[in-house]
Amino acid sequence: MRKEYMMTPGPTPVPAEVLLSQARPMFHHRTPVFTELLVAVEEGLKYVFETKNDVLMFSSSGTGVMESAVANLLSAGDKVICCSNGKFGDRLVKINEAYGIDIIKLEYEWDQVVNPDDIKRELDENPDIKAVFVVQSETSTGVLSDIKTIGGIVKDYAAVLVVDSITGIGAVECKTDEWNLDVVMTGSQKGLMMPPGLACVSVSDKAWAAVEKSTLPKFYFSWKKSADSLRKSAPTTPFTPPVSLIVGLGEALRLMREEGLENIIKRHAILADAARKGSEAMGLKLFAPVEGRGNAVTPVWVPEGVDGGKLVKMLKEKYGITIAGGQDHLKGKIFRIGHLGYFDKFDIMTTLAGVEMVLSELGYPVTLGMGVQAAEKVFMENPF
Ligand SMILES: *Cc1c(COP(=O)(O)O)cnc(C)c1O
Repeated sequence: MRKEYMMTPGPTPVPAEVLLSQARPMFHHRTPVFTELLVAVEEGLKYVFETKNDVLMFSSSGTGVMESAVANLLSAGDKVICCSNGKFGDRLVKINEAYGIDIIKLEYEWDQVVNPDDIKRELDENPDIKAVFVVQSETSTGVLSDIKTIGGIVKDYAAVLVVDSITGIGAVECKTDEWNLDVVMTGSQKGLMMPPGLACVSVSDKAWAAVEKSTLPKFYFSWKKSADSLRKSAPTTPFTPPVSLIVGLGEALRLMREEGLENIIKRHAILADAARKGSEAMGLKLFAPVEGRGNAVTPVWVPEGVDGGKLVKMLKEKYGITIAGGQDHLKGKIFRIGHLGYFDKFDIMTTLAGVEMVLSELGYPVTLGMGVQAAEKVFMENPF
């Protein structure tokens, strides 16, 4: 017998309460029961997004709402700024390219944060920019960009700010309204502690004005269709919604409200601190720079002489622990410990213990227990 541990930054573990809630018998979506559920879920989403705006839901992974942002806000030939400091920033660029958008690409090394001054400069030089796309928490690298400052800049221009907060929401602060974030997106399988398959996007008044002017083709992913259904006296969805997932989300949001957003964010900060200190105590080097360290995932350099691919594979095959490797040019060079959503202290300790054992087996000189010890100290000093 071997127990499995999924320590990845998406998909993430799902609490038993959420899983069980989805086992209830199917019910029809054109019913008062579904409307009641939808209203409660909307309220919960507004709570975690910290917004008064509508939060629209689509049956898709996160990439679906990323694409919907382009299709609903823009017209062919429009000019946008796309910031890329990792895999998901690159995806935003690719989606805009696919729709024939004129892209000003602000490109950064993968260990850098997005520089708000660069955005300001481009907005000043290009008054016709329609939108600014930025990733808050780059899951490929753990780097967290300062979207609060970026929001403070973009609000004074005509452009709308589109934020991929897919591993931000439910892990780190993302104050949609207070920070002037026009469009904020997340996916169910990240901080919301849900299975994959549902994506959410909040839309500000400024963004709705852009939607009115947009002529790119859209149908299933039309924000207007979705909002029209939501605003009916008995709120509903334009098409058959993923009923079970919405039931699960209702339960996940209930758990999140019970814990409280502030406590959730604090918990992620402590988990990340333990993952970092534990890794450093093994003599490993953290990938992300100090000023850009997010709390959703901890990326660590694979030490010299160790095969990164083998580390991840052995951890899985020998100990049942799934972590993430590096992506693209970082493949084999870093490994990433996820601690986003339904994670607690002993998830971090389990992962660190497994990494220590595998590193030792791969010939890296580590004193067993050093990483776990450092994490224990963090948890004892910062109770939650
Ligand atoms: C997971 C993720 C996405 C979306 O990926 P999907 O596989 O389509 O859900 C987008 N951006 C970031 C930062 C992510 O972590």
